[in-house]
Amino acid sequence: MPEGEEKICAVCGDRATGYHFHVMTCEGCKGFFRRSISKGVCFTCPFTRNCTITKAKRRQCQACRLQKCLAVGMRKDSKVPPGRALGWAGASAVQGSRLARHRAGLVPCSGSWLAGP
Ligand SMILES: [Zn+2]
Ligand SMILES: [Zn+2]
Repeated sequence: MPEGEEKICAVCGDRATGYHFHVMTCEGCKGFFRRSISKGVCFTCPFTRNCTITKAKRRQCQACRLQKCLAVGMRKDSKVPPGRALGWAGASAVQGSRLARHRAGLVPCSGSWLAGP
């Protein structure tokens, strides 16, 4: 078997375990991203919001780590079926429901489907 298939975490460069939230990442970044989005936390970078995220440094700045997660394409809707989007807890509930309503197309359409015979 060839050994050129080593998987690298797109966020920190550690050894990745597979696709998590649409992106190849390690277990650490997967857990970090999930915790971050489920709590709806807002991190603040103590430096210049330009930190380099590596395996060794990834714990030093959560703000830039989360930013990197998003930058490489991680998204929170990976395993949530559309019907469960309203189940998002906490602060994102309002935003989530508004988005879901928008997606569901509940805006009244032209009314042609209401027209009788
Ligand atoms: Zn990682
Ligand atoms: Zn930072």
